[in-house]
Amino acid sequence: MDAASLERDLSIDEAWLFSSLEELARINRQPDGSCRRVALTDADRSGRDLLVSWMRELDLEVRVDQIGNILGTHQGRCAAKPIMIGSHIDTVSTGGSLDGAYGVIAGLEVIRTLKRHGVTPRCPLVVASFTNEEGVRFQPDMMGSLVYAGGLDLRTALHSEDRDGTVLGDELKRIGYAGECRCGALVPQAYIELHIEQGPILSREGIPLGAVENLQGISWQQITIHGEANHAGTTPMSARKDAAQAAAKVISFAQELALRMGASQLATVGSVHLDPGLINVVPRKAVLALDLRNPLEAHLQEAESRLVDFLEALSVKDGVLIEKKQLARYPPVTFDPEIVRTIEMSAGTLGKPIRRMTSGAGHDAQMMARICPAAMIFVPSVEGVSHNPAEHTEPEHLTLGANVLLRSVLALSEQGRGQ
Ligand SMILES: [Zn+2]
Repeated sequence: MDAASLERDLSIDEAWLFSSLEELARINRQPDGSCRRVALTDADRSGRDLLVSWMRELDLEVRVDQIGNILGTHQGRCAAKPIMIGSHIDTVSTGGSLDGAYGVIAGLEVIRTLKRHGVTPRCPLVVASFTNEEGVRFQPDMMGSLVYAGGLDLRTALHSEDRDGTVLGDELKRIGYAGECRCGALVPQAYIELHIEQGPILSREGIPLGAVENLQGISWQQITIHGEANHAGTTPMSARKDAAQAAAKVISFAQELALRMGASQLATVGSVHLDPGLINVVPRKAVLALDLRNPLEAHLQEAESRLVDFLEALSVKDGVLIEKKQLARYPPVTFDPEIVRTIEMSAGTLGKPIRRMTSGAGHDAQMMARICPAAMIFVPSVEGVSHNPAEHTEPEHLTLGANVLLRSVLALSEQGRGQ
């Protein structure tokens, strides 16, 4: 079959796509409907086991690397460098069924479709599921792809600890996914990731597809404020070193900073922990997690430097000691223009509109972009809701995204660069 007739005839099996998404979502689903497969928990293991069973059903060659990334390879007609289709299957604690899982399962469905039609692609295809993309328990996020791309040393990643002091490497062994393959052993000629937008742009504009051409920079900081524990009933207000009050000022500052710097600057304090956390004790310690994002590196640096100035002044004014630790720092990323064009052309062959866009969220694709040409396909998230059980994409858009992925992968395979 030639490439033109392939394009006309092939389309993915949406029944398998939907039922597989549902089967994965059922693992440890919470009473409120949310998916909870936090990286390196028992639920993550169950999700991985299911994924591996699907890969084996497709006769993929399954490899697990030393950080637990799962790679399933489907051989092509030539011994060329592979095309990798990747994403992740871990979730936040209150996740939806699509974030990450959609891209991995659609990748499998692309291979299923080719096999069903007896089509062998020119290049090998690899479906990758990266460890700990969400970074809720162990930081940094996008860890598996970051280690894969050589941006974080394996030992450091394996030694990272969660809040209870549990070591990542031990958890990886416990769930049976401490693999032996070297991270990054397989360098693809192209990496492509299909993902829900997790934002409102496509949904609001009524456009069913996005070709993601860049991704904003992210700076994660942990801010620890040391005050002094004291009696809530006997300590005069003027004599307190109240870590919670200082924390509240940091939270207010984050919002003011973003508003002052304009629409593209975002600032979020998503986590606050007070110690000892009792009603009648002035807190001695507050630990905050701050997330800063901007598509321009210079602006992101400006936000970071304004934060430093603010914390210095606050420390003096409130008489508290403030420590700041960078949890993650990723510069903005520009994706590969040729893959972006291929995605647009694939949408065109289906007669569907597509818009170029910037990703507001971090994705494994940004790490893979360090070692190979990479880009992403987005489908709309209704109302932009994500990291929430209400996360939803219309079934027709899920099918369309997977078909654009299929056509893009075939086109990239036939282009065959990076031999
Ligand atoms: Zn994701």
